[in-house]
Parts: sequence; C-alpha cells; structure tokens
Amino acid sequence: MSNLPGIVIVGASGRMGQMLISTIAASDKARLVGAVERSAHAWVGQDLADIMGCARGVTVTDDPLEAFSTAQAVIDFTAPEATLGFAELAAQARAAHVIGTTGFSDAQLEALKPAARHSVQIRAGNMSLGVNLLTQLTKKVAQALDADWDIEVIEAHHNRKVDAPSGTALMLGEAAAEGRGIALAENTESGRDGITGARAPGAIGFSAIRGGDIVGEHDVLFAGLGERIVLRHVATDRAIFARGALKAALWGQDRTPGQYDMMDVLGL
Ligand code: NAD
Repeated sequence: MSNLPGIVIVGASGRMGQMLISTIAASDKARLVGAVERSAHAWVGQDLADIMGCARGVTVTDDPLEAFSTAQAVIDFTAPEATLGFAELAAQARAAHVIGTTGFSDAQLEALKPAARHSVQIRAGNMSLGVNLLTQLTKKVAQALDADWDIEVIEAHHNRKVDAPSGTALMLGEAAAEGRGIALAENTESGRDGITGARAPGAIGFSAIRGGDIVGEHDVLFAGLGERIVLRHVATDRAIFARGALKAALWGQDRTPGQYDMMDVLGL
C-alpha cells in the first residue's frame, strides 16, 4: 500500500478539489498524502475525515512545500496565480505537477516553463477522454473542410465560472486552427455585441453561455452553405476530470521532466 504514489491536492475545498479527494480515496492505484488550501481558509488545520468523511490522517495545510515534499505528484485545479507558485514548489520537490487550472494569460503560460526543467508538468484545459478525442476529431474535420465553412466553438458552464472562453473551448479552437493551417490568435472572433459587421471570413468564433450548475458542454459547429456539422461533448459529472487528472499523475511517474498534455497521457 505504502508503495503507491503519494498525491497532494491543492485547492482542496474547491469543486474539483473535493472531487479529486474522493476519487483518490476510492482508488487502489494512489494514496492521498496531503491537501492544501489558502491561508486562513476554514479547512486549514482540519482533518479531511471531519470535513469530507474520508479516512483519517490527512490534515489540510496552508504550507504547500511541506506537503509536496512527501508527494510524488501534485494535482492542481485552482487559479492561474496560485498555479504559478505551485509549479515552482513542485519543481523543488521533484513532484509531477498535474495542472487543470484554466484562464492563463500568454505571459503566465511562459512563466510556467522554467519549473518544467526540473519536474514533469502535465497541463490540459480539459482532462476528460471524451474532450481529448473531440479535439482530434475537430482537427480532422477542419483539415477536410475549406475556409468557406465557418467554425464556431459554443460552450456552456455553471454561473460561478470566472474565465471565458473556457480552457476546453480554446483547446478546440486551437485544434480547428491547426487543422485549417492558420494561427488562432490572428483568426479569432469572440464577445460579439452590437453592430459587429459581418463575420470575418475564415475566423474561428467563440460563444459562451453561463448558467446554473452546468458542468461543461462544448459544440464545435462547422457551418457551410446549406449544411452544418456539429461535434458535441457533454460532461454530466466532474468525476471525468478527476479520473483524467489521476491518470495523468500516474502516467507522469518516472517520465523525463518537461511539459506534457493529455494527448501524451492518452497516447492520442
Ligand atoms: P473552485 O473555485 O471551486 O475551486 C478553486 C479552489 O482553489 C478553491 O478551493 C480555492 O480556495 C483554491 N485556491 C485558490 N488559490 C489558492 C492558493 N493560493 N492556495 C491554495 N488553494 C487555492 O473552482 P473549480 O470549479 O474547482 O475549478 C478550478 C479550476 O479548474 C478553474 O480554473 C477551472 O476552469 C478548472 N477546471 C479544469 C478542468 C479540466 O479538466 N482541466 C475541469 C474543471 C475545472
């Protein structure tokens, strides 16, 4: 049992944090060795058994480095600034860093790179098998269609989500751009409001819906003249992301330091 990889969850009280704790507690492939929350958070100092009813022995801490020093992997679904700090500490502890956090700026993505010289860093805007397959399909369909087909990524999420378009929508947009052989940054349309003018030919559009408790829905619409193709993924349970993240943490053991994504983990 003690030979199983030890995993620390940061952002333990979050929607994904709690799902990850339950997923690891139920797994026979890894063990939970730590849980981290922000300083002054109500969970700090409490045993997870008293908060979530899982096995006794993991006390929530606000000292990530101490927690990471006992771990083989850190799973992180928090916020971009927090993840930048965790990346450095994971590198110091030589623990694999699985990053589910979304909403990074280009500068923040650049700032993640140095830590990956010393630790395995696996980052994906969506950790589910279904979305990663959808990404491959999107690239293939975009490759097969010419620029007369408008491509729009339409996503829906719960009303607490703070970033838009979602990390998954951006992943899908990147895949479509790659398939079409263009750079997404120079061919994006999003946030339409008012007199926007006609749709830019060849652009990849993004539309975001926010409401209720929607876990995550993504459509990739290819709209041609007289016909449409829609590729769709619907997530109904956050457990798909937690299972993907755990798979990534296990895959990351004994790999060479560097940056990886779920395509590497899933061998797609
Ligand atoms: P949430 O707000 O419920 O949870 C975030 C948690 O991070 C909170 O508990 C917060 O206290 C904690 N946190 C923030 N800063 C911290 C710090 N410095 N130290 C320790 N803890 C800190 O959010 P959520 O719905 O769980 O989503 C979290 C992130 O994961 C978002 O970026 C979301 O888009 C992303 N997400 C990614 C996937 C995926 O598959 N990649 C799936 C779902 C959500």
